[in-house]
Amino acid sequence: MKIPIAKPYLTVEDAQSAYDTILTGWVTQGPRVQELEENFAKYVGSKYAVAVSNCTTALHLCMIVAAIKEGDEVICPSMSFIATANSIKYTGAKPVFAEVDKNYNIDIEHVKKLITSKTKAILIVHQIGMPADIDAFTQLCKEKKLILIEDAACAVGSSYKENKIGYHSDLVCFSFHPRKVITTGDGGMITTGREDYYNRLKLLRQHGMSVNDRVRHTSEKIIFEEHLEVGYNYRMTDIQAAVGIKQLAKLDMIVSERRKIAQHYNSAFKTVSQIEIPQEKEGYFTNYQSYIILIKPNGKISRNEFMQLMMDEGVATRRGVMTTHREPAYKEECVGISLPQSEYYSDNSVVLPLYYPMTKEEIEKVISVVKKIFNF
Ligand SMILES: *Cc1c(COP(=O)(O)O)cnc(C)c1O
Repeated sequence: MKIPIAKPYLTVEDAQSAYDTILTGWVTQGPRVQELEENFAKYVGSKYAVAVSNCTTALHLCMIVAAIKEGDEVICPSMSFIATANSIKYTGAKPVFAEVDKNYNIDIEHVKKLITSKTKAILIVHQIGMPADIDAFTQLCKEKKLILIEDAACAVGSSYKENKIGYHSDLVCFSFHPRKVITTGDGGMITTGREDYYNRLKLLRQHGMSVNDRVRHTSEKIIFEEHLEVGYNYRMTDIQAAVGIKQLAKLDMIVSERRKIAQHYNSAFKTVSQIEIPQEKEGYFTNYQSYIILIKPNGKISRNEFMQLMMDEGVATRRGVMTTHREPAYKEECVGISLPQSEYYSDNSVVLPLYYPMTKEEIEKVISVVKKIFNF
């Protein structure tokens, strides 16, 4: 039995939805995208949702509506997927890297020390689905007159203080990549409560076009579009949205099943002294986009040895979240930057298999192999 690290949960119903949409003849952004946006906004409790091609383009558009430009600074964690920092770079602004806490989320005390007169925004990440402390960052941004942007790529279906991620602030970005909790192949979503942001985001994702295809197509009168600013082609297609509509309807069930698997792991591993697991604090609710453990480096087995032993037993693992400041693309501008906490967590953490549906045998196998390796 070989156990993969992750598997998207895609059904015949999802495929049928794409099939039906293809046969309507309307395949790019159109009625299905609008339907998914409405359903998504309702699901998270935000006023508006804007579908885009992926979370990286979602973040880029948020930087633009936040008016981030060359010469500005945006604070974000280094320990994140590289797209987080890249979205800042696209604007010519500088990502300023903050440390993370025990839950792999951006450390507000370090952020406070990094704020300068050039700082324009803080980009927080709900890492692997675990919410960051949104209220604390909202308060800090208010005090310092900064814009808050949430990279919620992994956090679809997670909640913070009784509300779904996507509800709390005005620029929240989600991903529907197959490695996340629901998928449209590739895809992204932005939620916002601000009408001005909503309108600008819709313009920017479609070449700055004043009237979209759907409106032109259904109009009884001749309409000519104008291009109000230099925009992008960051559209989601209706084929993707058709899948997304069905995936979203299953999201709460998928999250609930993922959490059950995580609880099995949590109770099995809590007695292993060399393993540390992120803890859900009161008011925080994670979708367990990834199940991550820290292999404390003072023990007998190193993280990399652990990964090899798991592989030898047929269980796939991945190293934990990367650090951006040590990647070749950022190394030069980050000379002299030291983020010991981020480096420690990144170098010693590992992701275990977690997907829905995962059989009882698969869950038990992962647990028994970990037990065997640590001898308990
Ligand atoms: C996956 C991920 C992204 C990028 O999402 P795409 O939809 O693949 O562009 C951005 N930020 C974080 C934290 C991610 O995990």
